[in-house]
Order: sequence, then C-alpha cells, then structure tokens
Amino acid sequence: MVARIADGNQLALMIQHEIKERVWKLKDSKGVVPGLAVLTVGEDYASQVYVRNKTEACKNVGIYCEAFNFPASVSEAALAAKIEELNNNPRFHGILVSLPLPPHISEKRLLFKVSPLKDVDGFHPINVGKFTLGHPVFIPCTPLGILEILKRYDVEIRGKHVVIVGRSDIVGKPIALLLLQEDATVTMCHSKTKNIQEYTKNADILIVAVGRPGAIKGNMVGLGAVVIDVGINRIPVTDSMGNTTNKLVGDVVFDEVKNVASLITPVPGGVGPLTVTMLLSNTVKAAEMHVAGKHEL
Ligand code: NDP
Repeated sequence: MVARIADGNQLALMIQHEIKERVWKLKDSKGVVPGLAVLTVGEDYASQVYVRNKTEACKNVGIYCEAFNFPASVSEAALAAKIEELNNNPRFHGILVSLPLPPHISEKRLLFKVSPLKDVDGFHPINVGKFTLGHPVFIPCTPLGILEILKRYDVEIRGKHVVIVGRSDIVGKPIALLLLQEDATVTMCHSKTKNIQEYTKNADILIVAVGRPGAIKGNMVGLGAVVIDVGINRIPVTDSMGNTTNKLVGDVVFDEVKNVASLITPVPGGVGPLTVTMLLSNTVKAAEMHVAGKHEL
C-alpha cells in the first residue's frame, strides 16, 4: 500500500480563500478590518520564522497584523502592561504571545493576561474550560488544523480508534478532546507509556506530537492507518561539499510509514500550514464576535 500524501499547503490556500471572503464581508458590511497583535520576545530564529509566516498569511487574507518585539531581557511586568494595552485597543481582535518565552517569564501567568475574547490561540483557562465542557469559543490552532485535514480528506472519525502520542497542553490534550467530541475512541500515549507499539499499531488514526525525529517507524503503524505527523524537528545534514544545513523533519519515519498508511501528512507541508490558517480563522472569528456585540464569554 502507498499512502495518499495530504497536501497541507494546498488545503491551507483553499481555507484561506474562505477566510478572505469572511474578511471582505466584515469590511463591506461593518467597516471592520480584523486585527492581530503578535508579541515576540528575544531573537529566537525559529519563532522569527513563524512570526514572518503568520504576518505574511495575515496580509494575504486582508487581516491587519502588527508584531511587537521585545528584547530577551524584558520584564514580565512590561509584557503584562503591553497585553493590557492591547486588550483595550479596538484595532486588535486577536493577541498572540509567541512561545517560548525566556525562563524568567512565566508563560502561564502571561497567557492568562490575554483577554479571553482576544485569545485566538485558545490557551486562556476560560477558553480551555469552555472547550472541555463542550462549548468551545477559541480552540487551539494545531488541533483545529488537524480536524480540518481529517474532514477535508473525508476521513471518518466517528467510532474510529484514535491514538495520540504526546500529551502537551497545546497539541496532545486538545486534539484528544476535539476528536472525543467528534465521537472517536481516543487513546493517549506519552513518555511513560510502556510498549507504545501495541497502541500505535491498533490505531485507525495515529496522531504524533512528540518532537523527536524517528519516534514512529513503519513497523509501529497498522496497515491502512491515517497518520498525522505534527512534529517539527531540525536535523543537521551535511552535503558532499561538507556544508551543513538544517533539514526539517517530522516525528514519523516518512519513507517507511508511507508504505503502510492510507493517508499521511508530510513535514514540511502538512499540519504546519493549517496551524497558521486556523490562527487566521480564529482572528476573524474574534472580529465577527466583536461586531456581533459579544463582549463577554
Ligand atoms: P511537548 O514537548 O510539550 O510535548 C511532547 C510530548 O511527547 C509529551 O507529552 C511527552 O511525554 C511526549 N513524549 C516525549 N518523548 C516520548 C517518547 N519517547 N514516547 C512517547 N511520548 C513521548 O511538545 P509539543 O506538543 O509542544 O510539540 C510536539 C511537536 O510538535 C514538536 O516537534 C513541535 O515543534 C511540534 N509542533 C508542531 C506544530 C505544527 O503546527 N505543526 C504546532 C505545535 C507543535 P511526557 O508528557 O510524558 O513528557
């Protein structure tokens, strides 16, 4: 069996076209341009690339996006004050705090400062709580993107056995909840799971968010499974001239698993573009809620 390879870039463009129409509608009918504020701290190269991608994607769909950059030495109080200012600034409907933050800043404390109405990442405890209770407002972007891939590639979820490897607050836990709400039977694995292969091999849908290249090999996947590789890892590769560059790979051994799975997401070009697209969608949703007069959750 050779798997279909999900084209995250193409899917993202398709969904961004739909988002563009929502942006036009807001502008035409209410004179409102959705706005996203992105806070970054320090010079981390990877997060600068992410911010650039997000800014570019916003521009493509007509969202106003402004990045606020702070030096790595910035205090938590100064960042909290900036968030407070952005919470009260009607120009911005969404606020994104780019992670990771330097160790002297508490990510949790800072993320909780973002108004739940502008929390387009879906990390605020009010949004997490509402989502958990089945009344979602903002759902985290990567799980939302994974759901779009499954739905738009006509993958049946109801009654299927979903195995998730990784239990982080931003990927593993929310995707488990989301697919549980879509009537899947969900198993979660993590670093303390024994004989992980016994679980992964029995998955109809296998979602891997570990952050370790080679975590899932071909012999760990059942024939015909749908495999979603969330991992983003940079590994050094040296060419014949002795030059070393970083190559982007996922957590799944793509060349092995593609011969066993029925559908697989590549890295790059799989889940990543959908994550950015769902951020755009959540930002437009925040603007739509604002014009609808929704001022509390
Ligand atoms: P975290 O580091 O927060 O979580 C990793 C999870 O993997 C933990 O639950 C950990 O278990 C588990 N784990 C670690 N080692 C093993 C192992 N050997 N076997 C089984 N489970 C293991 O990572 P994130 O969830 O934030 O991200 C995961 C990956 O996804 C990263 O590569 C990240 O870059 C990528 N990512 C990609 C996105 C995209 O848009 N494509 C968006 C967000 C993340 P335990 O809890 O026991 O420690």
